Amino acid sequence: MAGKADLVIVNGKVLTMDAARPRASAVALAGGVILAVGSTAEMRELAAPGAQVIDAAGGTVLPGFIDSHVHLFQGSAALEFMSMDGVETPQQAARTIRAYADANPDEPMILGTGTAYDLMGGRNPTRHDLDAILPDRPVALLSPDIHTLWVNTKALELSGLLHGGPVPEGSVIVMEPGGTASGELQETGAFGPVLKLSRTGGRDMLGYVTGAEPEPPATEEERAADRRLIAKGLAHAASHGITTMHNMDGNFYQLELLSDLDATGDLKCRMQVPFHLKNYDPLDRLEEAAEMRRLYSGDRVWSGRVKMFMDGVLDTHTALMTRPYPGTETVGEPVFEPDHFNAACIRADAMGLQISVHSIGDLATRRTLDGYQAACEANGVRDSRHRIEHIEVIHPNDLPRLRSLGAVASLQPRHSALGDYFPLIPQGTILHDDQYPYAFAWQRIRDTGTPVIFSTDWPVVPVDVMRNIQCAIAPMQPGAPWDARPQSLMDTLASYTSGNSWVEFNEGRKGQLAPGQMGDVVVMDRDLEACAPGAIHAARTMVTICAGQVTYSA
Ligand SMILES: [Zn+2]
Repeated sequence: MAGKADLVIVNGKVLTMDAARPRASAVALAGGVILAVGSTAEMRELAAPGAQVIDAAGGTVLPGFIDSHVHLFQGSAALEFMSMDGVETPQQAARTIRAYADANPDEPMILGTGTAYDLMGGRNPTRHDLDAILPDRPVALLSPDIHTLWVNTKALELSGLLHGGPVPEGSVIVMEPGGTASGELQETGAFGPVLKLSRTGGRDMLGYVTGAEPEPPATEEERAADRRLIAKGLAHAASHGITTMHNMDGNFYQLELLSDLDATGDLKCRMQVPFHLKNYDPLDRLEEAAEMRRLYSGDRVWSGRVKMFMDGVLDTHTALMTRPYPGTETVGEPVFEPDHFNAACIRADAMGLQISVHSIGDLATRRTLDGYQAACEANGVRDSRHRIEHIEVIHPNDLPRLRSLGAVASLQPRHSALGDYFPLIPQGTILHDDQYPYAFAWQRIRDTGTPVIFSTDWPVVPVDVMRNIQCAIAPMQPGAPWDARPQSLMDTLASYTSGNSWVEFNEGRKGQLAPGQMGDVVVMDRDLEACAPGAIHAARTMVTICAGQVTYSA
């Protein structure tokens, strides 16, 4: 008797991420949800006449990957902007920028992404360096972490920043002697005005820079262009086996665009979008977060989380540290004052909102935990699942607090200095020797019993799941004073699937291959468990399925 499955995946090495039945060889889906998991023969029995059959041919089959920290709109735009990836010398920079400018004569501003720090032979570019390359059109180069922008004089003039100006706490317009800007703009409060000059009018960055809405509102033409761009980014993510992403910047505009894409069947990944609270926002703005949650509560586009920044990044010494950077007097730049941050946490937590905080330095993480503690004390212990993003360095005293306060460690293996993408941190520059074992300390954090979830922070690094997994299971081993501990493949896969569904309060609904769960599945082109850890990046996605629909097929 024919069954009712409309899609079956057979001959796979199925890792269900479900402890009740960890392994199988086939999966059957019906009506966009998982119908059953079992043997190939059993699942074939369930297939309806005409059902689609995918032969996994011995490849690993997993719940669709969830990337729990991305910037979708920026990542999508970065697919089209000038890439500075692999550009390492001033000569290469000049060639890349001039070639892009020649090929794009109508581009309102040449915007480069992924620009290495120390590009100018051991130092960062100044406006004069960039003027020497291209003086007559605005040029702006974003650092890989999207926390610094280097611009030429034309870009400074057009954005009104040539002679500096007021910026919010935590942001810096670096000045040169004589009262003019040097061309280095640190943090979004400083470089936001420049981004408006780009082809997208800066709309791709708005949810990150301020969390505000486009002003003036986007025209129908601009909306259509932005939808097209985001659809491209979603398709790109789906090609890496991704079925859900958690955005880390947000505004109503992005939620509207995503809902439009959903309505036309063009939403290839489920998207969670937060409300972005800046340090200068009144706390009453959190009502907007509640409004976002009320308006967007589906399984495909939803909100209910608040994003805040506690500090900057290590490279510019803006990450907030418990003691000064080696050889300096600076401990970094706090974005929020502690009292203000604690009040924000208490209020958001009382509203039942989830909190996620960018926190890189050890003092930033201490203060973030202080905020979560304040929320617990004021509101009682809730199942809040508040997240801390990055945790690049943690003070040993704060390690046990992660677990005891119920915080979630949201980590990005490839984004770290132990990944294969960015340079190692040279000794004596950013970290004290005794801090190295507590830098990118994924396994130490996991050992405390703290939930660990993985993501890329696309476009800081590509949204490539397998490259990121490789950096988790086979990190660089630079030796002392580092203490790089590999993650197990199973822990890593869980941090990319069931862990990430749990953090979005969807455990039991997705993130596992079990009957009744959402029909989000990825079929890999080989057996991941048979891959050498240092070569797993070569594994490719064969098929991605979201809600029972094939969203990518190799
Ligand atoms: Zn981010």
